[in-house]
Amino acid sequence: MIYIFCAPSGSGKSTMVNHLLTKHPNLFELSVSCTTRPPRGKEVHGREYYFISIDEFQQRIQNDDFIEYEQVYEGLYYGTLKDEIARIEAAGKQVLFDVDVKGGINLKRILGDRAVSIFICPPSIDELRRRLEGRGDTSPEMIEKRLAKASTEMEDMKYFDRVVVNDDLHHAFEQLDAIIEVYS
Ligand code: ADP
Ligand code: 5GP
Repeated sequence: MIYIFCAPSGSGKSTMVNHLLTKHPNLFELSVSCTTRPPRGKEVHGREYYFISIDEFQQRIQNDDFIEYEQVYEGLYYGTLKDEIARIEAAGKQVLFDVDVKGGINLKRILGDRAVSIFICPPSIDELRRRLEGRGDTSPEMIEKRLAKASTEMEDMKYFDRVVVNDDLHHAFEQLDAIIEVYS
């Protein structure tokens, strides 16, 4: 099974994905996307993302290397490489995708019954702001852009197979574990 995780930025999607990777290191692996944004904090090329230039990104579009790609924020491109599913499945693991909401809906449409799409929902927009500010790695300007996008993304929750409300963290982990139990 392939798991597609989507959420407005700051909702706790990375926290959920990391929970699964830590709990089941031999079962899951995260697909590494390409992005044209610069690395943040301790991010490493090839681990969190393949950090590439806009020219290389366009070249990869021409080469038809992506299953899907999006201009997630103005001027910033993110794309899922076709090779990632094959690479991870060849290692005997199940693929986790961490993509934006539009990308997740597209991936689910392409992958069909091979995938389950999971929307991580924040308890409120105010709490989302607090979490983004608390994370301390995103500029105030980017926080505003991400919050503006969040309201529209919440409207697309209905297209997902499962929704996890990330209010109390422990409870959210339990909801996620129950989903994995059913699908894996
Ligand atoms: P995303 O990957 O969706 O952008 P993160 O997983 O980075 O979000 O979470 C954003 C911030 O909120 C992080 O600092 C994280 O530690 C914190 N966080 C995540 N889940 C919760 C929760 N249930 N309660 C409080 N803080 C949380
Ligand atoms: P961040 O810059 O915070 O790492 O990611 C911003 C957004 O881009 C997140 O919602 C993340 O899930 C999304 N994203 C990361 N990789 C991809 C991808 O390959 N395709 C799409 N559509 N979105 C992605």
